[in-house]
Amino acid sequence: MLAAYITHPDCQKHEMGVDHPECPARIGAINDQLLITGLLDYMQSYEAPLASTSQLEQAHSALFVRDVEAHRPSSGYVQIDPDTRMNPFTFQAAKRAAGAAVLAADLVIKGDAKVAFCNVRPPGHHAGRASAAGFCFFNNVAVGIRHALNVHGLERVALIDFDVHHGNGSENILHEDPRVLMCSTFEEGVYPFSGAVPMGPNMVNVSLPSRSGSKAFRASVSETWIPALEKFKPQMIFISAGFDGHREDDMGNLGLVEDDYAWVTAQIVKVANTYAQGRIVSCLEGGYVLSPLGRSAAAHVKVLIGAD
Ligand SMILES: [Zn+2]
Repeated sequence: MLAAYITHPDCQKHEMGVDHPECPARIGAINDQLLITGLLDYMQSYEAPLASTSQLEQAHSALFVRDVEAHRPSSGYVQIDPDTRMNPFTFQAAKRAAGAAVLAADLVIKGDAKVAFCNVRPPGHHAGRASAAGFCFFNNVAVGIRHALNVHGLERVALIDFDVHHGNGSENILHEDPRVLMCSTFEEGVYPFSGAVPMGPNMVNVSLPSRSGSKAFRASVSETWIPALEKFKPQMIFISAGFDGHREDDMGNLGLVEDDYAWVTAQIVKVANTYAQGRIVSCLEGGYVLSPLGRSAAAHVKVLIGAD
């Protein structure tokens, strides 16, 4: 059974200005690295479908979904927050990114793929139930998780978020859902300046000081995430895979390296193999310097698909 690789050309049509770090080339940087490392040979490629309105409304209010569509410009940009803008293709790309998570859930739950990696943008983990922010419009992992729970009838799904920024949108959407356990690490004192106090008992938040490095990151995972995951016994795991904690990425300052992403992926795979029939869906979040982004994503995918 092949691992699934899900992306779509529409994800490269959304752009927020020439100097914006969340740029279309991120998709190609990852794709190129997966290609030259030979990892794509082990994966079945799929085009991301458009998430339907009802799928988006599993995680977002109907009013918000209509509002994002209504802001779509016919030319130029519409500013959503100081860092986030829409071009004429953003709405389509955002529906592809969320649709990738839905397709990934379908493939993995039906047994057509053991794991799936979604190389998509815009990212999603800062998008709340009724808010777009921080480069994000729809919360891709939350849409996929609610699809797994509400359509496929799973009862326990875990979300792992190792992006350097706190996944405040995911926490906003999922903190009152006891069917979900969210475990995250993030750097304190940086955008979105939240997460220090978890919003619910199903949130395992680890706020790491700047320059924590590999050792503190790995200790947090071993000492906080793993016991919580073992108690929760997830039937499936979603990953908000952000690689902006890499030491070459100036968006954060945690000082992680490729090997940390390989290591944390191995820990997640171990939990998935024990409790969740190996079922993992990983969706791209951050990571803005192209070389470390490509290398880190490849290190993650290599372990995810068992090619390590
Ligand atoms: Zn980030």
